[in-house]
Amino acid sequence: MNNRLMGTLLTFVAVVAGLSFATPSHASAKVVTDADATEAVKTATSFGTAKADGGAATGKASLTPAAKRWQSKTITYKIASGSSYYKSVWKSAVKVWNRSGVVKLVATTGKANITLSTSNSPMGNNDSTVGITYSSYYNNKSLNGLAVMASAKSYVFTNVANRYHYSKGERTNVAEHELGHALGLEHNVGKHSVMYYATRDQSVSKPDVNGLVHSYR
Ligand SMILES: [Zn+2]
Repeated sequence: MNNRLMGTLLTFVAVVAGLSFATPSHASAKVVTDADATEAVKTATSFGTAKADGGAATGKASLTPAAKRWQSKTITYKIASGSSYYKSVWKSAVKVWNRSGVVKLVATTGKANITLSTSNSPMGNNDSTVGITYSSYYNNKSLNGLAVMASAKSYVFTNVANRYHYSKGERTNVAEHELGHALGLEHNVGKHSVMYYATRDQSVSKPDVNGLVHSYR
């Protein structure tokens, strides 16, 4: 099944399940909910054994693909993680994406576009999903052929990161990956992208910045 068909089906399922709703400021717009999980990697050399999550990666390794974007390049965020450790993990991830110079992530105490959080995985002890991003988008708005996002919430799953002995730097890479989804990026086919489906030792790299430039042009 190709990605476009999968996307259509997901949209259909979301609407049937009643996950779509109209917001007061966009009375006619449907908001469709989406999720994208990230696999933990046991060691840097076991990429091949990590199981695939969600959508298949498409395109070239040199350009991280996107399905969505925010209307504006200035995007607000809020860190909901309670611990100073994870606040600093998320702050580092924000700094890395801001360094691209393409988007400007701005902290807010009010209602944010993106919420950055941590929790234990709800998926059970044998699951290797180390991060997840839930996002929603307007099904009647697009820019550069990309759906316009309505909200995003990213998580790093602390129990999975602990179980796989991720360092703080590796957790930051997971946070960067999830924030990449929250900015509208999809999975890259190549391992030298932070948006490879399984994340451990790769930070944001040139293909990811290229993808962001392409989305927000
Ligand atoms: Zn992912």
